[in-house]
Order: sequence, then C-alpha cells, then structure tokens
Amino acid sequence: MDVREAIEKLNELELREFAYNHAMGILYYDGATGAPKRSAEPRGKTLGILAGEAYKISTDREAVALLDFLREHSDELDADTLRRVELREKGLKELRAVPVETYIEYTELMNEADAVWHEAKEKSDYAMFEPVLKRVIDFTKLFAEKVAPDKSPYDYCLDKYEEGLTMAKCDEFFAKLRERIVPLVKRVEAAGQPDDSCAKVLFPVEKQREFSDILMAKIGIPRDRCAIGETEHPFTTDFSRNDVRITTHYHERAFLSSMYSVIHEGGHALYELGCDPKFSYTGLSGGVTMGIHESQSRFFENVIGRSREFIGLIYPDAARLCPELGKYSVEELYRAANRAEPSLIRTEADELTYALHVMVRYDMERQMINGAVDMKELPEMWNALYKEYLGVTVPDDKHGILQDSHWAGAGIGYFPSYALGSAYGAQFLAKMRESLDFEKTVASGDLAPIRDWLGERIWKYASSRKPEWILENAMEAPFDPKYYLDYLEGKMKDVYGI
Ligand code: ZN
Repeated sequence: MDVREAIEKLNELELREFAYNHAMGILYYDGATGAPKRSAEPRGKTLGILAGEAYKISTDREAVALLDFLREHSDELDADTLRRVELREKGLKELRAVPVETYIEYTELMNEADAVWHEAKEKSDYAMFEPVLKRVIDFTKLFAEKVAPDKSPYDYCLDKYEEGLTMAKCDEFFAKLRERIVPLVKRVEAAGQPDDSCAKVLFPVEKQREFSDILMAKIGIPRDRCAIGETEHPFTTDFSRNDVRITTHYHERAFLSSMYSVIHEGGHALYELGCDPKFSYTGLSGGVTMGIHESQSRFFENVIGRSREFIGLIYPDAARLCPELGKYSVEELYRAANRAEPSLIRTEADELTYALHVMVRYDMERQMINGAVDMKELPEMWNALYKEYLGVTVPDDKHGILQDSHWAGAGIGYFPSYALGSAYGAQFLAKMRESLDFEKTVASGDLAPIRDWLGERIWKYASSRKPEWILENAMEAPFDPKYYLDYLEGKMKDVYGI
C-alpha cells in the first residue's frame, strides 16, 4: 500500500462512518420532531445496533492498521490529511476506552435519558431524572478516566466541546466577565425597564411559522439545503452540507422566543452550509468545535438579530403578520428585544445576563464531575447559585435544573462554549468593522458581505484547522474578552442610556 492508496481507503472508511452517523442522526431527529412518544424503545434498539456496527467499522483491525500506516508516513501527508489522522486518533482513543458492550449501553442510555428528561421536565420532577443523570455522570467519569487519565476529568469534558479549553482558562475568562458584567447588571436595574408589551402581543402560531420562513430568507439560508422542524428545545443538526435541520418552538404570546431561536439555529446552519464541499464525507466535515459554532449562532442571534437595523428590516413583515404589533414602533421593539433582566431560563436570557446562566452550569458541572456531590442535592445547589448569580428564586425544577437538554445527552462541558462563542463574536464584529459598514449592510437587507466575511475566515475551513487557528485567522489577533465586555457596555448604553 502506498500513501495514495491509503488516503483512498481512508476516504472509503470515512464515507461508511458518515452513512452510519447519517442514519443515526435522522433517527434522532425523527425522535425529537415527529415520532410518537412510545417510539423511544424500538428506536433505542436500532440506535444500539447501528452504533455497535459503526463502532466496529471505526475500531476494527483494518481501520487501526490504516491509521498506523498514515501516522508512519506523516511526513508525506498534506496538512488536511494530517489533521484527519489527528482527529481520528483522538476519536479512536475515545471509542477504544471501553468495550463495545459498554459503548452500546452508553448509546442506549442517551436515548433513554432523553425520553426520561422530557417527561421529568414536563412533570417538573427532578427525582424522576436523577437515576439516569447519575448514570450519565458515571459514564462521563469513566470515559475521562480511560481517555485522559493524566487530565482532570472536567478538563477532559471541556476539551470535547472546545479543543484546548481548560478550567484554568475558563476561570480566567469568567472572572473577567464577572468583573464588568455584575456592576453593569446593577446599573441597568437601577435605570428602570423599558416597556415590553410589544413582545407579548398575540402572534398566532400559524403566522409565526410563516415568519420563520421570512427570517430564514433574511439571513440567507438556502432552503433547498435546510429544513425547519418544531421541538420543545430548539437545536440544529447537520447530516451534510446539503442537509441541515433546524428546529424552533412557538409560544403565542412570546414571538421573540421563536424569532431568536430561528436566527440562532440559523447561524449554526449557515456555518455548516458554508463548509468547503471538499471536506464532505470526511472526518473534517462540519464545524470545528462548539465554541466556534456558538460564536456563529450567537452572532446571528444577537449581534445581527438584536441590532436596530435588523429589527427595522423585519418589522414590516412582522407587523403584516401580526397587526397588533404594528401599533408599536421599531424603536419600541428594539428596546423590548434588548431588555436585560436577571431571569430563570438560559435560552430566553438577554445578552447581558446570559453569561451568568452559563457560570451556574460551569460551577455545577465542575463539582458533579470532579467532586463527589450528593445527587439529591443538585436542585438545591442549582437554586442557590441562581440566587447568588442572578438574584432570582427558582420556583420549580422545570424552570430550574431540568430546563436544558444537555445533561440528558451527556453534553457535560458544553455550556462554557456559549459564553466563549458570544465573546468570540464580539471580537469578530470589531474586526469586521475595519472592512465593512456593519449597520449599513444589515439595514440594506443584503447580508451577503457579512456572510462572505464569516465564510472566508471561518466557515470554509470546516474542521480542518484547530479552533485557535480559526480564531486568530479571523481576528488577526489573540482572543480577548475585552471586546465582548465593551460591546455589552455599548449596547446597554444605547438601550438604557447609562
Ligand atoms: Zn447554539
């Protein structure tokens, strides 16, 4: 076998892996969107078998020998292939950490945990979720111990979602955020809240569905490659750059909730849709890390979506679909959409207090994974942290510890990506302003120059580069949370006059 043949074999192997992931992803998406409630059991069995087969393909002797061969010939490989080898080695280490039976058990647990979480949340009953959460945590600890015995277990979790991220980096980042966000929240509270009755008008769900299509068109999503579904907890899933699915939820008297979910998930979708096709069906396809992913979704949601210009842009359609909204001005809608106030639900949180919600989860997870916590005490811990960081009283588990789906999907270590992503986005904006007039571009309704900027500097690389490389390539400077804090201060000054 020569290197050329080895790369061909690698292409075949990764195409087969893609096929299994594709099938499993569609099953998951179907389970979350249209499938009847009791389909969880048969789906779990199918997913278990598919995951077992996929496991065998990725870990069998031939796949391992191929990887060894490529590693031995690394000086003859181009940068993209080297990165594929590196990512495969990392993935293989993860897969081989436990025997196949344990791996299948873990996949089945994910499916079960998701169903249990949905029901527990509906009933606002943490005790119901506790046993599966305990198993998720035990599995996470087991993987950490096997895959990265030399690392602190929570550092292992963080690195899964943002390559290279550690608790030390998070601590420094969150400390900087806390220093300026906490006093800013106090100043905003003292300034008094703008009226937000325009955000509570009755906007029929049918009309909101129509509005979602308009929003997707405004941000430039090609609908022949991206569909929208409905779920309790909005998410994006990508099967390939030709098939991305986003979801949203509709509440008649809270249309902004769906509007910003569509734009947020739309940002994730645009990133996936903008990956260079040369990476399709390989280990380099798709966005690189969750931190970079969230930087794109939150950029669209907040930096673009909550700007005065974007709100002006969508206002005529919104008012046409919901005449009651037409009684309010663009400025009133802008202020309502940017109202900053400590609250209970992270996904509905404003830009200013958002990072505080993330800090609660960061503190919790760290103790759950690194320490020995009593599972029964988790809701109390959660409620106490909400009181401390946001000053709000959590009324029940539904509005507290059960609000997010992440832990049910073993997404422990994911949350810091949201805060980091928001901060990356503010620095992208500062850099972008050097070459384009951001406000004028948004107001024009043609966001192509913004998409091109992001596409050229971030999207097209897919997973072919490490996140730090992508950040520095886009920012032309090291990452600095100062841009985010300046951005937040500027925004609050504009909205609250402080
Ligand atoms: Zn997101």
